[in-house]
Amino acid sequence: MQKATGLSDSMSGMELAGQDEVAVRSALLAWFRRHARPLPWRKSGDPYAIWVSEVMLQQTQVATVIPYYQRFLEAFPTVAELARASLERVLEVWSGLGYYRRARHLHQAAKELVRSFAGTFPEDYEQVRSLPGIGDYTARAVLSIAFGLPYTLLDGNVARVLSRLTALQGNLHQRGFRRAVETHLERMLSVRSPGNFNQALMELGQTVCLPRTPRCAACPVQTWCRGYKSGQPHLYPQPRPRRAAESHYLAAAIFRRGPRVAMVRGLGEGLLDDLWNFPAAFGRSREEALASLRHSLADFGFPSLALDDSVAELHHGITHRSIRVHAYPAELSNPPRKRGVRWFPVSSLRQAAISQLARKIAQHVL
Ligand code: SF4
Repeated sequence: MQKATGLSDSMSGMELAGQDEVAVRSALLAWFRRHARPLPWRKSGDPYAIWVSEVMLQQTQVATVIPYYQRFLEAFPTVAELARASLERVLEVWSGLGYYRRARHLHQAAKELVRSFAGTFPEDYEQVRSLPGIGDYTARAVLSIAFGLPYTLLDGNVARVLSRLTALQGNLHQRGFRRAVETHLERMLSVRSPGNFNQALMELGQTVCLPRTPRCAACPVQTWCRGYKSGQPHLYPQPRPRRAAESHYLAAAIFRRGPRVAMVRGLGEGLLDDLWNFPAAFGRSREEALASLRHSLADFGFPSLALDDSVAELHHGITHRSIRVHAYPAELSNPPRKRGVRWFPVSSLRQAAISQLARKIAQHVL
């Protein structure tokens, strides 16, 4: 068995011999044909549908994505229909899935596809990359899965499988590790079925080669797996040191006017800017958040009200922030008419383009 050159042993892993690469590739493809989950986007060869699924699957679990994918494709069955829709409508349909920049980019890219590519998805890598929000990974995914072009795909699941298969130490945040995995992948890629090969590796990582408890007995590539032979496959890859969660306080004002509540765009500090939220402000303590809220309410023209008694306290997480939220309700008989404030009927909040946090507060307070 040869070792890869140019990298230390631990960071390069062990290369598979040529005949083993062929055997691993065949075993993976055969396993995928038999065991692939019938995910809705796998029924489609439509690049648009595959693109939507790939964007949704970034940062989101498969099971969560499925209903959103189906709803999105029902609302916007084609690139042209997505391009024609308003951003507000797109965000409404996306609402609840999180990371809303993805939806905004999908919408912008759909407009660009209509404007510059007659509503079809280009097959050229550089053209695909020129579209808003489409990075290297998404471009490779669509080109390999929808068009059968020989691009490899590297995500956390694929890295885990490759790291175990070749006993490669490190993690995806290390350049040497990433380069070594990419080298292994390039050598192993099926040029005839690159889409299935990529999906097979991801599927194996998601359903068999699980992070803590790999199901090696059910694995089609166990025969060649160096991690399995080491007796401790779960030690590959190595974890990245975790960033500690930061504690924040948020004060939110729930202004009611009869059956309507006041919402503004964003949450401050650049968070959730595309979505409607209750007027709110962050602080390092409950008191500081409340003081900031009073201050910012003046900007929206809300009167200075008694907001001292919070009716609800709840917790919410946004990326690495752990947020303690205090919600302060108040009834307004004479609301300000200010730009940037929208009054939503309480009954419409389920379908509106509001943040998950706003939805959570509404459930507690309204
Ligand atoms: Fe992962 Fe085990 Fe398969 Fe190796 S044998 S790839 S560790 S599931």
